[in-house]
Order: sequence, then C-alpha cells, then structure tokens
Amino acid sequence: MKPIRYTMIGSGTLVPDIERGTASHHLQCGDIHVLVDLGFGTLRRMTGLGLPLGALDVVAISHRHQDHFADLLPLLFTLRHLPGERRVEPLALVGYPDFGADLDRLENIFGDWVIDPGFPLDVWEAADTPIEIERDDAVVEINAYPVVHSPEAVGYRFTLGVAGREVVVAYTGDTEESEEAIALARDADLLIAECSVADGLQAPGHMTPRAVGRVAAAAAVKRLAVAHFYPSVLALGWDEIERRIREAYHHGPIELGADGLEIDL
Ligand SMILES: [Zn+2]
Ligand SMILES: [Zn+2]
Repeated sequence: MKPIRYTMIGSGTLVPDIERGTASHHLQCGDIHVLVDLGFGTLRRMTGLGLPLGALDVVAISHRHQDHFADLLPLLFTLRHLPGERRVEPLALVGYPDFGADLDRLENIFGDWVIDPGFPLDVWEAADTPIEIERDDAVVEINAYPVVHSPEAVGYRFTLGVAGREVVVAYTGDTEESEEAIALARDADLLIAECSVADGLQAPGHMTPRAVGRVAAAAAVKRLAVAHFYPSVLALGWDEIERRIREAYHHGPIELGADGLEIDL
C-alpha cells in the first residue's frame, strides 16, 4: 500500500537549538511530496532525515517569519545547481496573500533564478486555493485558511488521497487560539499545532498547551501533534505539557513533537 506519511522536520522556533530545527513539516502522499514551511536550516535537516530535496512537488509557506520562510531561496538555488541532478518537473509554491509579489521583490534583488530556476515554478497564493496536485493514483488538495498571527499568516488543510483512501491533515502555522484555527482543524485526522509558550505568559499570536487542547477539542481532531516550542513551554516538561492539553482534549492520541517524528496515516 502506498504511504500517507507525516514527518516533523523541525519542532523548534527561531531560538537556535541543536535538538530542534525551525518550523518545517513533510507530507508524503503516494509519490507526491509536500514540504510545509522551511525555516532556516531545513535543507540540512531534511538531508539528515533522508528526505530528498529533488523529490519535492509542493512547497507551502504559512507566513513571512524567517523560522518558516528562510530556506526558500536556498532551496530554489540548490535545486537549480545540484550536481548530477537536472530537475525538469514543475515545483508548486503555495503561499500567503501577496506571496507572488514577495517573489518578484526577491527576484529584483537576487536575480532571475528566483522565479526561473531552470524548471517550471507554479506560484499560487491563498486566494487561489483549493488547488489540486495529482500523480498516478495520488491526489493532494491544498486549502489555505487565515489565522491570527502576522497579518499575512495562513494555516493549511491538506486532503491526501491514495487509491480511494483519504486523510485530512491540518497545520496551524503560527496562530493564536481562534475560531479560524478551529475551522482549519475541523474533524482532521491529524492536527499539527503550534504550542509556543507556557500558559499565563503574554504571547499574542501564539498558543499555550491549554489553548491547543481547547482548539483540538473544539475541532474534534482525531490525533494531535504539537510543535514550535519556545523555552518557556519546554521548561514545563512533557508530562505537564500533555496534562494541560488533556484538560480539554480527549478525542485521540497526542504526539509531543521532536525532529524526525514520523506518523503513518
Ligand atoms: Zn511567526
Ligand atoms: Zn514561528
């Protein structure tokens, strides 16, 4: 049976941490490979996890913050120049509102290769979704949802289908507890949620363990994986993080994120 697999590439934040890379996640649906966010250090982390850059079909980016965005230009540059590999397949880039204008600005600074890297680049923005990527008997539908963080920030909801089997994976990106986050996650088979700071700390635009639990419960997600941990939440320890999420969320298993975490769906 062809896999529908989730891999957490980076469970951390902008805080440099040898154990935890910046935000990045990977979905494999049959032979379709999707990268969701790519903060600084992601390419190196992917290599360590055995996820080939050349296999990527889709890159979806949630917002401009560099712990989610920074490796986009290195990815395009590397795919263009990778010794021994001449990419011909198109790469779909899916981004937040005005993402295309950002690419144009980056092209003005760095050169034509940003939007003409030597293989077709299909650029989509949140308003263009849902978009569908198909290969053989696999299909990935991508939907962007606004979230409460930076003005442009979105989360993504992926419907992954292989040979008649269908799985929904929702990714909050960075967000506050909100109706938007619940709508994005509604009934998902897996919710990948940011869990940035300890409860009681002021952190506009982010969630605490208790907030994640409330969102996951309200959305009735079947399984939950948490990531994007700042030091204040890591200092709680796993047992306490899980206990706080469980105050509201009882529907299914909780995975406390780590780089390299893999879930077969
Ligand atoms: Zn952010
Ligand atoms: Zn972030």
